[in-house]
Amino acid sequence: MPEVTLYVEGEEAMQALGARLAAVVGTHGTLYLHGDLGAGKTTLSRGLIRGYGHTGKVKSPTFTLVEPYEIGEQRIFHFDLYRLVDPEELEFMGIRDYLDGNALCLVEWPERGQGVLPKADLDITITPHGSGRLLRLTPQGARGEQWCAELANGNT
Ligand code: ADP
Ligand code: MG
Repeated sequence: MPEVTLYVEGEEAMQALGARLAAVVGTHGTLYLHGDLGAGKTTLSRGLIRGYGHTGKVKSPTFTLVEPYEIGEQRIFHFDLYRLVDPEELEFMGIRDYLDGNALCLVEWPERGQGVLPKADLDITITPHGSGRLLRLTPQGARGEQWCAELANGNT
């Protein structure tokens, strides 16, 4: 299963796709969300996190760099590295513990952590297209490939 490209129109559909992703991703892994400001990275993350059963707010962790969620046994860490000055900061944050833990990690602006961040299971690149967005899903290993296959399968 190579890349998957999807066209998603509107905020609601974007969140619905996030919920579908939640259903295939399972308890742990890493997802990197690429795209300019306003692309829809946080919107997709919101749908995903709610897909795990979170009912409260999902705010953009722009100033805190990371927002943790605990939904039952499930742990999710939502990063936004837009304001990261130096990738080294991630070392001080103990990024390995987040990524190696039994959690799902969503990372907006992973480019800011280049050199320190390892490869993701799945890269998602969002670009504006008409009144919606094109999402390119690129798996970086077996786990990501499995997710894409299940997503393309359309059963979830
Ligand atoms: P980012 O986190 O990438 O900066 P946001 O998720 O905050 O972007 O979204 C910015 C805007 O894009 C929001 O107003 C949202 O409603 C809109 N948006 C998100 N996804 C879509 C989509 N698939 N189609 C149209 N508009 C979208
Ligand atoms: Mg954002």
